[in-house]
Amino acid sequence: MNEPAAIEFENVTFAYTGARTQALSSVSLRVEAGERLGVLGPNGGGKSTLLKLALGIEDDFAGQIRVFGKSPRQARRAGLIGYLPQRCEAELDFPLTGLQATLLGAEGRRFGFGPTRRESIKCAHDAIKLVGAETFADQQVGKLSGGQLQRIFIARALAGSPRILALDEPTVGIDIVGQQEFAMLLERVHRELGVTILIVTHDVRAIAAGCDRVACLACTLHFHDSPQGLTPQVLAEVFQHDVSPMFGELHVDAHAAAGCAHDHGHIHDGGRGEHPPRRAEDVDG
Ligand code: ADP
Repeated sequence: MNEPAAIEFENVTFAYTGARTQALSSVSLRVEAGERLGVLGPNGGGKSTLLKLALGIEDDFAGQIRVFGKSPRQARRAGLIGYLPQRCEAELDFPLTGLQATLLGAEGRRFGFGPTRRESIKCAHDAIKLVGAETFADQQVGKLSGGQLQRIFIARALAGSPRILALDEPTVGIDIVGQQEFAMLLERVHRELGVTILIVTHDVRAIAAGCDRVACLACTLHFHDSPQGLTPQVLAEVFQHDVSPMFGELHVDAHAAAGCAHDHGHIHDGGRGEHPPRRAEDVDG
C-alpha cells in the first residue's frame, strides 16, 4: 500500500466560535511525505488556522484532515509534528539555557515525570548540532540574538524526532542575512532528516527558495503547485486585500473569487490603467 500523505486536508471549512465569517473555506491540499510546502497568504488569510487544525489545537471543523493517516490529535500525541510557533517571547522569561529548552522538546509529554532519559539527552544534543547551535546552547535563551534563538527553537521542534516540521512565520523580525542562513539551515535539516516541512508565511522570500510546492491561501486555496507557477497575477489575487489600498481595487473574476484549487482566475484593473504589482517582492509586506 502507498504511504499515506504527510498532511491531507479534504474540503476543510472552519469558523472560530462566534465569528461571522469562516477562517477557512473548502480547503483541500496534500503534502507528500518528505515534501516542503510553503503556505503563502496575506495576514488574516487563515495560515495559522490551517496549522492549528493540522496540530489538533482547533478541531471543530467540517471536512477531513489526516496526518500520516491519523487524526491531528492522534498525530500530536504520537509526536509526529514538531512545531515552531510564531512568537516564543513569553518563553524568554524562563531561566532556561538553549540546551534545556531543546531537552523540553525531546522529553515532550514525559517532561517533569521522572529523570530525564538518556535518549532525550542524546536527541537534544543531536538537534543542537544539526542546527549549528553548539557554541551558544549553554547560554540563557533570553540572552540570545533573534537568529540564535530561532536555531534553538528549531532544535527544540526537532528534538522529539518528528516526521513533520511546521513553522509559523519563521522569518518575521529576521534580517536578510538571517533569512539566507535560515534557508540554508532548512535545506540542511531537510537533506539530513528527510522530514516533511510546512512553512506558513506572508513573506514570499521565505518560501521562494527551498519549497517544492506553494499553496496560496486567502480563506480559500488559490494555487497549489510549484513555486515557478507563482505569477504576479496569482500573487496579486491572493494579496489583493493587502495591495488594493496601494493599487486601487482589483477586479477578480467571480469564479476566481470562489477560490477553487488549481484555478488561478483572471485579474483586471477595471480599465483604470492601474496594474497589479509586477514582481513578487512588490506584494510582500
Ligand atoms: P493568518 O495566520 O493568515 O494571519 P489567521 O489564521 O490567524 O490568519 O486568521 C484567519 C481569520 O480567523 C482572521 O479573520 C482572524 O481574524 C480570525 N481569527 C484568528 N484567530 C481567531 C480567534 N482565536 N478567534 C476568532 N477569530 C480568529
